[in-house]
Amino acid sequence: MSESVRFEVEEHEGPVSPEHVAPVERTAQVESISRAPEADRVEFDGRRERALSNAVYWGIHASCLFVLYTGVDATDLALCFGAYFVRMFAITGAYHRYFSHRTYKTSRAFQLFLGVLGASAVQKGPLWWAGVHRLHHRYSDTPRDPHSPREGFWHAHQGWIFNGRWDDTRMDQVRDLARYPELVWLNKFHFVPPILWAVACTLIGGFSGLVWGTVVSTVLLWHGTYSINSLAHRIGRPRYDTGDDSRNSWLLALLTLGEGWHNNHHYHQSSTRQGFYWWEIDVTYYVLLGLAKLGLVWDLKAPPARVYARRTQEPEPMREAA
Ligand SMILES: [Zn+2]
Ligand SMILES: [Zn+2]
Repeated sequence: MSESVRFEVEEHEGPVSPEHVAPVERTAQVESISRAPEADRVEFDGRRERALSNAVYWGIHASCLFVLYTGVDATDLALCFGAYFVRMFAITGAYHRYFSHRTYKTSRAFQLFLGVLGASAVQKGPLWWAGVHRLHHRYSDTPRDPHSPREGFWHAHQGWIFNGRWDDTRMDQVRDLARYPELVWLNKFHFVPPILWAVACTLIGGFSGLVWGTVVSTVLLWHGTYSINSLAHRIGRPRYDTGDDSRNSWLLALLTLGEGWHNNHHYHQSSTRQGFYWWEIDVTYYVLLGLAKLGLVWDLKAPPARVYARRTQEPEPMREAA
């Protein structure tokens, strides 16, 4: 890729990372948060919006029953799992490792492509997603964490999406992304890519393609993604003391293309690679390596040496619980 095309997205100041906060400091931080007036608990009268979100969310779930009408063939399954794979990468490789944590660099054009791809996963826009996720890391498993399982599995998995508190994009958390008007537009019109996705699936496979490539695939994708918010703070093993409940799970890592190495990630958020060892399968990272070979992304960040200095705490990979 030529230098003229290779318009590099500028570095951002980034959110304050809690990853190096010592346990004692972290405890004080958490206590202070718990006592603080809940200034960010903005009352939001968005009942109509929430009703619409609920109707769309549960309506898509119910629409899975159309498989009883369409049946299934090899094309349907290929479309369903292909759509799952591509859009899971859109969440993990784009929304998470790029927009939320800026763990690698890319051109402005490919940044927009990543944003559009991410929006196709039907999890709102890139600024909204990154804003919520940065709050998750800033306040992990405290009362200000948007989706801590300490408030219950249902809340962490999907309930938090519908309680109204997190509906608005937290622009204070994503000033680095808000500098790009095309991303701000995409964040506002985040429903356009999912509509285009549904049209494409219909053109490929007719009604059956719509049901398997959009409806069923999206429901699987939602719960795969949400399992990181709920289960990755509950099952598996913590390797590092991060002051929160994050854990590593090989099973979740397989289902989410590498996001199950969640304790690794909470320990060192700016690493592109989340499986710190060769046996920690991290498909998102492998895809990003491929994109780097093509010159579409660059400056992927490796885990620092200090994460390997903790080798003595390493669980045996075969003994690792899911
Ligand atoms: Zn993260
Ligand atoms: Zn987490």
